[in-house]
Amino acid sequence: MTKQQPPVDGYCEQCGFNYDTGDLQGTVTLLIRQSADCSMALTKAAAGPDANVVRLRPEPDVWSAIEYACHVRDVLEVQRLRIAQCLAEDRPVYAPMDRTGRVKQEKYEKQDPMEVAAALVRNAKDFGAAARVLRPQELGKLGLYNYPVRAPRTLGWIIRHTAHEIQHHRHDIVEILAKVEPPIVPKPKVEEVEATDEVVEAID
Ligand SMILES: [Zn+2]
Repeated sequence: MTKQQPPVDGYCEQCGFNYDTGDLQGTVTLLIRQSADCSMALTKAAAGPDANVVRLRPEPDVWSAIEYACHVRDVLEVQRLRIAQCLAEDRPVYAPMDRTGRVKQEKYEKQDPMEVAAALVRNAKDFGAAARVLRPQELGKLGLYNYPVRAPRTLGWIIRHTAHEIQHHRHDIVEILAKVEPPIVPKPKVEEVEATDEVVEAID
């Protein structure tokens, strides 16, 4: 089952992100926190009783937790480079990141979850550092962006959109792990059965 494409403005009903609220600093703080959540969910699952759960797809065409985490890690890097490109060029045209092609080319499902988790947090911090220092004039600068349709977008929108990507996929990762993770079943206690062959006699 393919999910409905998330919105790129206004309110996202799937993850609760709102493009219309939050200032730059608050948005970046949220992004870093949500990235840490993605990273933690992945490492926790990978350290659990069945490390392989991070590689399980809940449906054939829905990514696994590790695939989403790799995607989030790469989005953060690509978006940081787009900030740099936007500041450096007069009329920036961003190259598409090829989100689906990367899954196979980079062998997302084979990557080490602990390394992915660490890189994800590192990339979030680097993205945050590049975004936090932008001045209002820079935030209003336009570039030609490809997703979901080719359209001019401000740098401010790119930052909010990146924060949405992370929040949205954090939601995906948590949801997927909840579906594929084995339930924690407590070990059955060995009951001490006492042989009682007393006959309780009813006393009138
Ligand atoms: Zn969303």
